[in-house]
Amino acid sequence: MTAPIQSNLLDTSIKMLEQYTLCDRCLGRQFAWLSTDTSNSNRGFSLKLTLSMMADDDLKSGDHDRGERVIGLLASHGQFGPAQIIAEKNGIDYDKGGNCHLCTIEGQSVFNRIQDISQRAVVLAKEVEFDNFLVGTIPVPILDERQDEIRAKFSLLHAEIVKSDFSRELGKSIYEAIKKDVEFERPHLVFLYDMVKDELKMQINPVFIYGRYQKLVRGIPQSRWDCKECKGKGCEECNGTGRRYPDSISEYVGTVAQQFLKGTRFKFHAAGREDVDVLMLGDGRPFVVEISEPQIRTPDLLSLEKRINKESKKRIKVGHLKMSDREQSQKLKENASKNIKEYSAMIVTEDPTEIDQLRRVEAELSGKEIAQRTPIRVAHRRSDLVRKKMVYEVRLKKKKSNSIEAFFKVQGGTYVKELISGDDGRTEPSIASILGVSCVCKKLDVTAVYSSV
Ligand SMILES: [Zn+2]
Ligand SMILES: [Zn+2]
Repeated sequence: MTAPIQSNLLDTSIKMLEQYTLCDRCLGRQFAWLSTDTSNSNRGFSLKLTLSMMADDDLKSGDHDRGERVIGLLASHGQFGPAQIIAEKNGIDYDKGGNCHLCTIEGQSVFNRIQDISQRAVVLAKEVEFDNFLVGTIPVPILDERQDEIRAKFSLLHAEIVKSDFSRELGKSIYEAIKKDVEFERPHLVFLYDMVKDELKMQINPVFIYGRYQKLVRGIPQSRWDCKECKGKGCEECNGTGRRYPDSISEYVGTVAQQFLKGTRFKFHAAGREDVDVLMLGDGRPFVVEISEPQIRTPDLLSLEKRINKESKKRIKVGHLKMSDREQSQKLKENASKNIKEYSAMIVTEDPTEIDQLRRVEAELSGKEIAQRTPIRVAHRRSDLVRKKMVYEVRLKKKKSNSIEAFFKVQGGTYVKELISGDDGRTEPSIASILGVSCVCKKLDVTAVYSSV
């Protein structure tokens, strides 16, 4: 034998309705985590219908007073149609006027706005390519406070907040209108509805494109470099351009990609950087370009590559483009100092050198860890630290009496010009310190960047 049913749910529902007007949905939401595959409206309706049937039973053959009281309550504070019909049949008085305590704004349930909001979402997203979306809601503080109060007063363990109920219902409605999936982890679009302002905003999440760039001409910085004097406003120093250098790698890539994807901004992330006067050759340096608010998410990457290469007029060249993500762009930067890089350099020495001296430099530097204090030339933008860097390989070839052709394989972030010159003892050891002659790097090219990302 099963024990007779004593319903806390029904008791609590009655107690809540004695104090507050609650629509089906808001009553049901107080028990939102009970039972599955239904809606809060159905939960509330079912509770009210069960109470109505019990009360009708009372009216017909039981505790008549109790029946009358419950029917009156359901007809008024419950706004419950079936109870209102029973009340009218039995001549039970009730008032009709109340608004739901938990969902009413300006005399209307906020849930009544859902159809209209989802139509607005359709209009906002009309020009945008996307496969999925997410809905967020900024609630009305007073409704939140009331929900908290009721939850505490009636010790409700299974209640849901208005915000998540509303967001889910709006999400379902938008799904019906646009037939795209809801995505929680990485939505392409986020619709944010502000209940107070009755305002729907759409956020288009960025797109990330990976590639590798070659820099084929010296004198191009990786990112836009403003004039030091006027900080970009334009002055005599910079002939009114506001810039120290007329172009940059990031702009060649980013501006075209932004237009191509119909975005509003771009950010350029790269696996390290080379100096302005250093070429980036070989297979290029990995980068990820991030396009904000793109209307296009699945660009034809081959056309994009051609467009970037055409517009940069052979100053840079990109390749290996593929779709990427935020994680990869972060890793690219984080791992830059672990990557192995290869350089070729032209070194000029103060005095002529002998071949056996060069062999000694190769032997002393290859496979060694060196210590580099931040070079004077970059001290204004990097903190003054001593960094340990691995030199994997150095090969030197004598050209004329005072010039050496050099090949380096080093850890990312090694200052190669200072590895050559010694930077007044700030890099130790260096080619200059081992040779005992002052050395200057006359020309430097990156020939390979090995990146794990
Ligand atoms: Zn309500
Ligand atoms: Zn200027």
